[in-house]
Amino acid sequence: MSADEQSMRRVTAIRNGTVIDHIPGGMVLQALQIFNVDGRHSNPISLVMNVPSRKLGTKDILKIEDRELTQEELDRLALIAPIASVSIIRNYSVAEKLSIKLGDEMVNVARCVYSNCISNSEREPLPHRLKVLKTSPMTLQCHYCGRIQNLERLVKNLL
Ligand SMILES: [Zn+2]
Repeated sequence: MSADEQSMRRVTAIRNGTVIDHIPGGMVLQALQIFNVDGRHSNPISLVMNVPSRKLGTKDILKIEDRELTQEELDRLALIAPIASVSIIRNYSVAEKLSIKLGDEMVNVARCVYSNCISNSEREPLPHRLKVLKTSPMTLQCHYCGRIQNLERLVKNLL
């Protein structure tokens, strides 16, 4: 059994839903925010934090039952977990594997963290555009004001 399989087995198998692997260690709570899972009225979820990972040092794993994430939702995850791998589970087996498709730009994913940026002006409705400068570590730059974004604050500005 590979190390990956072993760590996947730390949480019980789910019948239907989504398994997200290779979230950087400690970031799974931000992932929940990204998917609007707030714990009070959500599908059953299981999370594993800080398991050893060759690629990441430590990683988190998230399982969401009875919900299949869309490609669009996954692309939002790139903010915190650009190398995450995602499996859609149907009837206890992997039905589809999805990966984040990160282009050069994230459009209408999050608002620039600088409140004085023109993209945050209500009088000038503009698409929210963030340039992807690099993915490791994730570095995003506002298309309009050119400023580099703080990822923790950016997660709070998700659209
Ligand atoms: Zn800006």
